[in-house]
Amino acid sequence: MPRPPLQRAAWFALAYVLLSVVWIAGSDALLHAWITDHAVLRQAQTWKGAAFVLITGGLLFVLLYRLFRHDAHLLRRYARQRSDVQMLNQFRESVIDNASIWINVLDPQARVVLWNKAAEQISGYSRDEVIGRSDIWEQLYPDRDYRESVTAKVSEILAQGVEVENLETRIRCRDGQEKIVSWNSRRFFSEDNALGSIAIGRDVTDRKQMQQMLRARDRQLAILMANVPGMVYRRRNNTDWTLRFVSSGCLGLTGYTADDLVENRGMSYASLVHPEDRERVQDETHRALNENQAFTLEYRIRHRSGQHRWVWEQGRAVQADDGPHLEGIIVNITDRKRVEHQLEQLAVQDPLTGLRNRRELEITLQDAVEQAESARRPLALLWIDIDDFKRINDVHGHLAGDEVLRQVSRVIRDHLRSDDMAARYGGDEIVVALPGMDAQAATRIAETLQQAVRALRLRLPGGEPIAITLSIGVAAVPEHVATAEQLAEAADRAMYRAKEAGRNQICNALPMPPPTPHADSEVRSPG
Ligand code: GH3
Ligand code: MG
Repeated sequence: MPRPPLQRAAWFALAYVLLSVVWIAGSDALLHAWITDHAVLRQAQTWKGAAFVLITGGLLFVLLYRLFRHDAHLLRRYARQRSDVQMLNQFRESVIDNASIWINVLDPQARVVLWNKAAEQISGYSRDEVIGRSDIWEQLYPDRDYRESVTAKVSEILAQGVEVENLETRIRCRDGQEKIVSWNSRRFFSEDNALGSIAIGRDVTDRKQMQQMLRARDRQLAILMANVPGMVYRRRNNTDWTLRFVSSGCLGLTGYTADDLVENRGMSYASLVHPEDRERVQDETHRALNENQAFTLEYRIRHRSGQHRWVWEQGRAVQADDGPHLEGIIVNITDRKRVEHQLEQLAVQDPLTGLRNRRELEITLQDAVEQAESARRPLALLWIDIDDFKRINDVHGHLAGDEVLRQVSRVIRDHLRSDDMAARYGGDEIVVALPGMDAQAATRIAETLQQAVRALRLRLPGGEPIAITLSIGVAAVPEHVATAEQLAEAADRAMYRAKEAGRNQICNALPMPPPTPHADSEVRSPG
């Protein structure tokens, strides 16, 4: 440690006085010893005095020069350092002030020593209101318990050096608004070893509100999706229809869990779709996507149990980061389809015999005749009436009559091809359309039917057998007539002629032009 300046100066002065005394006294004694002549001695003493002044003056000059130079150097350095420090301070203040995050520094007593502009903006409290004070916390945290929990944390930081990261507190701003601030804070020691804490806070109110909103929406969506009838999905637009997401309804709909199906190419959604429906569904999906439209589909899927279920799907394309996806909802409509099918059947079917009804006959016969005409193919019609049916009703009862109707219908149906159509025209009259057959081929079918019905050997509840015979009229386009109406009429008339000829007969209609009653064809007896 260098000595203080005054002490140093005193030592220098003392050394100088002592040296001077020693020099003057010593040199004088030497001169007196060597020189005896008074005049010479005086002269020598004058020169000695002059030399002393010159030497000490020179030494003093060198010393002072060096000192001044050193001082000047120090002064320049101090001036530079001062301007550097000033600049640093300005820089620090501007950085701290321009930071968009709240920065505050507290002293050991939790008094505010630094409060930047962002702190002013977020809290609404100005620097002048908070610097040097610790009561700002009462404003920011008006609830006592809450405030104590926050100040306890600050004490932990200051006393124990605990570091805080992303600690969120809810502050009450000057305007009464509440904000959520996320804090990072830690203890520090200043140059003079004084303790303090620095805190950096980010206003996360908007983000928090957004998160809360999103969470609430997620919850609502989850509830909604869990309760949606069917399954909400998101899938890739690839050939496997790889599922990316399915709602919990997946289990009820397919029998598989989300884990079984999501991102599983081995058992993709496409593999569950009924093979007969797959191409149609693929085509319709692509068409809707190309036209940028939502799509609605109905198709069958295979349930885990192996059963097929009808589903209704409504979806649309969405552009995700990793390519186009489809999202939508799939609902089980098996019951609806069953009811629809039943209703369709009811609309076209005769409830007693299961054959088509009269209305359906009229519609399909019209179409069948038109198709036959355009394909230049024949079409034959059999008009069948059970002989003496009234008697069965009268003797054995109406229920027995019903059973006879059912059995006869079954036999007729069993002998037809898939393209043929049998309908109950009414009462005990059954009409059979035979596309591609002329009257001759149809007559052979009529004979077969007669034989099969005769062979029925129906037994009534009492046990006795009933023999049933049929009278059948045969007509064909273009052989006999040209239109559906004429065809029905001609076949009906031929059947009446079979009745007139004694029943259990097959009778052909005559070709166009419409025959006179005498011009009808011969009556055939059953083979
Ligand atoms: P034909 O040999 O001349 O045909 O004499 P038929 O006794 O069969 O006389 P017709 O064909 O005119 O009579 C049909 C009868 O069928 C009249 C009606 O009582 C009966 N019938 C009509 N609909 C039903 C039905 O749904 N169930 C039953 N059991 N009988 C019916
Ligand atoms: Mg009859």
